[in-house]
Amino acid sequence: MADLVVIMEPKGKTEVIDRLVELAESFGYRTASVRLWRQAVVVVVGNVAPEHQQQLAGQPYVARTVQVSTPYKLASRHIKGQTTVVRAGSLAVGGDRLAVIAGPCAVENQRQTLATAEAVRAAGATGLRGGAFKPRTSPYCFQGLKEEGLRVLAAARKQTGLAVVTEVLAIEDLPLVIRYADVLQIGARNMQNYRLLEEAGASGKPLLLKRGPSATLDELLLAAEYVLRTGNEQVILCERGIRTFESHTRFTLALASVPWLHERTHLPVIVDPSHGTGERSLVAPMAAAAVAAGADGLMVEVHPHPDAALCDGNQSLDFDQFRQMMHLCRGVAAAVGRSIADDAGDQTQGERDGSSAGTVQRHQDAQGRPALLTVRKPQNASAAVQ
Ligand code: PEP
Ligand code: MN
Repeated sequence: MADLVVIMEPKGKTEVIDRLVELAESFGYRTASVRLWRQAVVVVVGNVAPEHQQQLAGQPYVARTVQVSTPYKLASRHIKGQTTVVRAGSLAVGGDRLAVIAGPCAVENQRQTLATAEAVRAAGATGLRGGAFKPRTSPYCFQGLKEEGLRVLAAARKQTGLAVVTEVLAIEDLPLVIRYADVLQIGARNMQNYRLLEEAGASGKPLLLKRGPSATLDELLLAAEYVLRTGNEQVILCERGIRTFESHTRFTLALASVPWLHERTHLPVIVDPSHGTGERSLVAPMAAAAVAAGADGLMVEVHPHPDAALCDGNQSLDFDQFRQMMHLCRGVAAAVGRSIADDAGDQTQGERDGSSAGTVQRHQDAQGRPALLTVRKPQNASAAVQ
């Protein structure tokens, strides 16, 4: 026995949902209702007995009921077959094309941020990252430019068209950050700040949720569940490395979390090889490994002069290194049936010359989970060329 998720038909009216909730509660269960996918979804909490499930499933306007035994319900693959695509302006995370969110760790000034935004866009990035509110381990380190930094990000968006991903540190900053951000980043340190998750979720903005360095994947999914509970399913999960006994890298980048999460959740998963390694030379190889593991995107720190960066210079790539990383990742992406926007702008190399069409297919199983990748040779290679 397990908790039960009841998914109502879109035309199910409030009174119908209220009656179903009353019935479930009369059986002694707690309930939580939310509107997702333009449908009402009712989570019935408790070990729902088969006869109760049958009665609930037989109520008017019930589309289907699903038993979910994992602690997270709305984030579970079981209740939604396809991967969720999170969209914000230039950014789409969860489709065949990989999202690459790149930019400085912190917005330092307009010149630095605009130059970086131009360079990463030209290299194929689809989103701009940059912290205006920085969670620093030491209170004596640069804390970010705050609203001025947000204004710089907005100027960079205007100039490049890139969607802005930026961190919100506290509930009281939300109204300000929402005005400028396309995607709200909830940093690793705040992954379990549940009130912040609820408020950020209720804003309706897409969220990028970074894994806490000591959080399990179940805890990450439960943090996402707090957001989904607000009716906002625009959540990107981000693996950014965990703390282990290993001290050679800043964190240990746990890449197995990518396929693990894909098996269990419909939410897209991206990887941050910058914080995940803490070391510039390791960023490109681990970005490539993340793409090979099936990541839906990357978040990478880039700076015009990494050695002069006010924050995380050690792990930041310069423009050339970022271009090289993108080149490497493009090759890996093609090998696993994905693509990355070309440095020329919108089209991938494969889309332009047809070379990727039909060579590799990404399979999904019946539940829509990514399954094993197989490579298919085009039957007539020249026929693929438009
Ligand atoms: C960041 O992305 O700027 C950041 C602070 O990362 P994390 O929250 O993963 O430490
Ligand atoms: Mn950083």
